[in-house]
Amino acid sequence: MISPDEKIKNAVMEIKKTIPPDVILQAAAKTRSLEEVEAVIQAGVVHIGYNYVQESLPIIQKVGKRAIFHMIGHLQRNKAKTVVANFDIIETVDSIQLAQDIDRHAKALNKIMPVLIEVNSGREDNKTGVLPEEVEDLAIKISELKSLRLEGLMTMGPRFGNPDDSRVYFSTTRKIFERLSEMDIPNVNLKWLSMGMSNSYQIAIEEGANIIRIGTKLFGER
Ligand SMILES: *Cc1c(COP(=O)(O)O)cnc(C)c1O
Repeated sequence: MISPDEKIKNAVMEIKKTIPPDVILQAAAKTRSLEEVEAVIQAGVVHIGYNYVQESLPIIQKVGKRAIFHMIGHLQRNKAKTVVANFDIIETVDSIQLAQDIDRHAKALNKIMPVLIEVNSGREDNKTGVLPEEVEDLAIKISELKSLRLEGLMTMGPRFGNPDDSRVYFSTTRKIFERLSEMDIPNVNLKWLSMGMSNSYQIAIEEGANIIRIGTKLFGER
């Protein structure tokens, strides 16, 4: 019998074998227990992503500085304060109002909050994120806020059975990333392209992702 911890450890090793060493493997931990999160940390995963603030707080309290916590779910403005206080990076900034809230709370905590802009690369009505043509404008506005620093872009993209269908959404996001990088906006330090999940991370890496967010393939089905 192989224990749940060993299963997670094996999954981490399997994924690490298939990705370049400079790509960050982030564990998408929604619905997972503290034991599962501890197991993934024991297996060497440092970056942990959460979609929901409420679920994340007890885990963040127990894990503390042993991991780097990413907010990867839609962030409501009334939760910004808690997220700034507890997370290390916010991947889902999609409005200037939210960015201003983050800036204000970060300033109060004497902190500079790293953020990514979430891109609605599939132009889906029901999805969060900003449309591709709106990213540049939001990036420039964010660059004027002193207590947060824009460090990259994140996208989900539509879900497909065939992961190759995701490619065009990842490449769209990478092109925006490249254009923004060339603009050399002051106070913007673009480093991260967060794209790809369990079924699509290989395609995402081919299209330039250097953070992949993996749930199912690490922990099993939800
Ligand atoms: C759940 C989730 C993932 C991981 O999805 P899997 O298909 O389970 O790997 C990645 N990103 C976000 C934003 C998620 O909510």
